Amino acid sequence: MINAAMRKLGEERSVIREIFEYGNARKQAVGEKNVFDFSLGNPSVPAPADVNREIVRLVGEMPSVALHGYTSAAGAPDVREAVADYIRAAFGVPMTSDLVYMTCGAAASLTVTLNALCEEGDEFIVIAPYFPEYRVFIERAGGKVVEVPADGAFRLDLAAIERAVTPRTKAILLNSPNNPTGVVYSRGELAALAALLERKNKELQKTVVLISDEPYRELTYGAEVPYLMALYPHTVVCYSFSKSLSLAGERIGYIAVSPQCADARALFAAVCGAGRALGFVCAPALFQRVAAKCLGQSGDLEAYRANRDLLWEALTSFGFSCIPSEGAFYLFMKSPEPDAAAFAERAKKYELLLVPSDSFGVKGYVRISYCVSRETIQNSLPAFAALAKEYGL
Ligand code: PLP
Repeated sequence: MINAAMRKLGEERSVIREIFEYGNARKQAVGEKNVFDFSLGNPSVPAPADVNREIVRLVGEMPSVALHGYTSAAGAPDVREAVADYIRAAFGVPMTSDLVYMTCGAAASLTVTLNALCEEGDEFIVIAPYFPEYRVFIERAGGKVVEVPADGAFRLDLAAIERAVTPRTKAILLNSPNNPTGVVYSRGELAALAALLERKNKELQKTVVLISDEPYRELTYGAEVPYLMALYPHTVVCYSFSKSLSLAGERIGYIAVSPQCADARALFAAVCGAGRALGFVCAPALFQRVAAKCLGQSGDLEAYRANRDLLWEALTSFGFSCIPSEGAFYLFMKSPEPDAAAFAERAKKYELLLVPSDSFGVKGYVRISYCVSRETIQNSLPAFAALAKEYGL
């Protein structure tokens, strides 16, 4: 009577959600201020002022029936136009509005794109560590996940990627700035990947697509985030406003298919078809219009930068070893014992909630989300110090 795979997904909550729920229970038990919850990637800075201004303006000025009614399935035409104009101006690629599809955030951008691309037997390469939902999204679209480990510094291991590309490879899924490592791939790395794929396409007589999952594009602290479409023609950008505009609960993002992608128009038709099949009637109408007026903006990056610096200074001075976080709002810290889950369990004794790296597809690290208040970080430092001492660091 019930689909067993869906039931399993529903009953096995994600590790991150599990820790978050545990944190809520602990907050009830020992008080909110005494629990240091670094589990969730929920933005902790307010949306840029333009977001609220636009909401108020739209609600005040636009007739309610038009404002809240259905838009075209792919999005309101003026919104798609604004997104295409922005991409052209910001990144110098010949984007057109007829290849922009508004979505309910990156999760929808990814599921729609994967369903649009996937045929039986297709393989999708992901770089480990990776956002755990990738596996759910790819497998549900009917694809096979091929994990390629990043190199020792969590950058692209081009030789390993080259070995993983086969005649069955449909796409490579990239995420930069990266969740969970905070790494931002350099122009050199990405250009080398593009060259590798061009070579493989010729050799295998096929087109490998690059899917660029970009919910953290604007969240960097100095590093350049090259635009993949400008480096490789067969690119689909899966964008989200969840993190940049602190609108994670409002569910708004877009898919942009590069005009230079092979069969771009057919792929866009498949995107529309996948959106339809998955039941996305259209993206939220009010927030399509809000986002169109706030393209390229972000919340207070200085707050995230200050959090990152405070944590980095403290944790490294306590003897922990961390991967330099160039973007997003995550710090990837080496577990002092090989079993990261055991380490995260021990950290709970000090009310420190960290996410073991196993669910991201690598062992031996924890992810610390620094999208929390400065006070939470400051108050957590004695707990981290005590934890380091327990390990003799
Ligand atoms: N991709 C990555 C790498 C993420 O970290 C997240 C959310 O944390 C998503 C996709 C999903 O984002 P959204 O909330 O926009 O669906």
